[in-house]
Amino acid sequence: MATPPTGIRLVAHITSKSFQGIPHLLYTVKKSRKIDVYKLAAGYNKPKKRKPQFIIFGINKDATKEQLNEGLKFKNNLLKDDDSSNPVFSVNFSINTKYGANWIISVKPSIYATIKKGRRLFFEWGFYHLDDFHSVRYCSKCGRLGHSKAKCEETPRCFKCGNNHAPDNCNKAECMNCKAHNARTGKLEKIDHLSKDRKCPFYIEAINKVIVNTDYGLS
Ligand SMILES: [Zn+2]
Ligand SMILES: [Zn+2]
Ligand SMILES: [Zn+2]
Repeated sequence: MATPPTGIRLVAHITSKSFQGIPHLLYTVKKSRKIDVYKLAAGYNKPKKRKPQFIIFGINKDATKEQLNEGLKFKNNLLKDDDSSNPVFSVNFSINTKYGANWIISVKPSIYATIKKGRRLFFEWGFYHLDDFHSVRYCSKCGRLGHSKAKCEETPRCFKCGNNHAPDNCNKAECMNCKAHNARTGKLEKIDHLSKDRKCPFYIEAINKVIVNTDYGLS
């Protein structure tokens, strides 16, 4: 007798009147050995949503992560902590720019809306702008999304056009992710942007994925 597709078996179990909860279901499935029990368990424990992140702009470049953590806590009531095992925020990392360091912090979903509304946080003697931060990994070695340079296993490519040369002297702007999409689908979507351009439909899609997987404390 042919084995029915596992998906159908699973649905049959769940909708069955004799359904006695997930542990029982796992037991039944384990007995029948038709489904990878671990996969099933992973599907049941919905992946935890990530905490919302903010980017704070233009902090003095000398400030350390520790100073930022203490300084933010000190000057912003919202970020004061009474439970160190579950902090209301944590300082993640910084990005250096011409105008100072932009710091990324993640916050508890319960304070997201208030911080977002205030649009600024105090640190030392300044009052700094912030905005939502959506962490999309962009690889500057191969120009693809979803992994960082350090984890890249692709052939290095020019991130400005996707060809096989160093980007330094290249003055093209052709998105390799959109080019690959066109090649795959036969479509003629615009490719006249860099693959790290936030207007790129693939970048937008990646940002949307981050948003969907973030808990903004709204439900
Ligand atoms: Zn890469
Ligand atoms: Zn190039
Ligand atoms: Zn693109």
